[in-house]
Amino acid sequence: MTVYNVGDNIITRKPHACGCSNWQIVRTGADYKLKCDKCGKTVMLSSEKFHKAVKQIGGKTN
Ligand SMILES: [Zn+2]
Repeated sequence: MTVYNVGDNIITRKPHACGCSNWQIVRTGADYKLKCDKCGKTVMLSSEKFHKAVKQIGGKTN
Protein backbone atom coordinates (compact mmCIF):
# COMPACT_ATOMS: atom_id res chain seq x y z
CA MET A 1 0.00 0.00 0.00
CA THR A 2 1.24 3.44 -0.89
CA VAL A 3 2.23 5.64 2.01
CA TYR A 4 1.40 9.30 1.67
CA ASN A 5 3.18 12.01 3.60
CA VAL A 6 2.59 15.66 4.29
CA GLY A 7 4.18 17.64 1.47
CA ASP A 8 3.59 15.00 -1.20
CA ASN A 9 2.13 16.21 -4.46
CA ILE A 10 -0.67 14.12 -5.90
CA ILE A 11 -2.90 14.09 -8.94
CA THR A 12 -6.58 13.29 -8.54
CA ARG A 13 -8.85 11.46 -10.96
CA LYS A 14 -11.28 14.34 -11.01
CA PRO A 15 -10.06 17.91 -11.23
CA HIS A 16 -11.01 20.56 -8.71
CA ALA A 17 -13.74 23.04 -9.60
CA CYS A 18 -10.99 25.41 -10.77
CA GLY A 19 -9.76 22.85 -13.31
CA CYS A 20 -6.56 21.86 -11.54
CA SER A 21 -5.83 18.21 -10.72
CA ASN A 22 -2.65 18.82 -8.74
CA TRP A 23 -2.80 18.90 -4.96
CA GLN A 24 -0.40 19.00 -2.06
CA ILE A 25 -1.05 16.94 1.05
CA VAL A 26 -1.11 19.19 4.09
CA ARG A 27 -2.42 16.69 6.64
CA THR A 28 -2.59 12.91 6.91
CA GLY A 29 -4.22 10.51 9.35
CA ALA A 30 -7.84 9.45 9.65
CA ASP A 31 -8.63 12.36 7.39
CA TYR A 32 -6.53 13.85 4.65
CA LYS A 33 -6.32 17.53 3.92
CA LEU A 34 -5.36 18.58 0.42
CA LYS A 35 -4.45 21.98 -0.94
CA CYS A 36 -5.19 22.80 -4.55
CA ASP A 37 -2.06 23.86 -6.43
CA LYS A 38 -3.86 26.41 -8.55
CA CYS A 39 -6.37 28.17 -6.34
CA GLY A 40 -4.95 27.28 -2.91
CA LYS A 41 -8.26 26.04 -1.53
CA THR A 42 -8.11 23.16 0.93
CA VAL A 43 -10.43 20.17 1.18
CA MET A 44 -10.80 17.44 3.80
CA LEU A 45 -11.32 13.86 2.69
CA SER A 46 -11.75 10.70 4.70
CA SER A 47 -8.94 8.21 4.23
CA GLU A 48 -11.22 6.03 2.12
CA LYS A 49 -12.30 8.86 -0.17
CA PHE A 50 -8.76 10.11 -0.45
CA HIS A 51 -7.40 6.78 -1.68
CA LYS A 52 -10.18 6.53 -4.23
CA ALA A 53 -9.57 10.04 -5.47
CA VAL A 54 -5.82 9.74 -6.02
CA LYS A 55 -4.68 8.85 -9.51
CA GLN A 56 -0.95 9.12 -8.98
CA ILE A 57 1.71 10.72 -6.88
CA GLY A 58 3.27 13.66 -8.64
CA GLY A 59 6.98 14.29 -8.54
CA LYS A 60 8.38 16.26 -5.65
CA THR A 61 10.10 19.44 -6.62
CA ASN A 62 13.39 18.48 -4.98
ZN1 LIG B 1 -8.57 24.61 -7.19
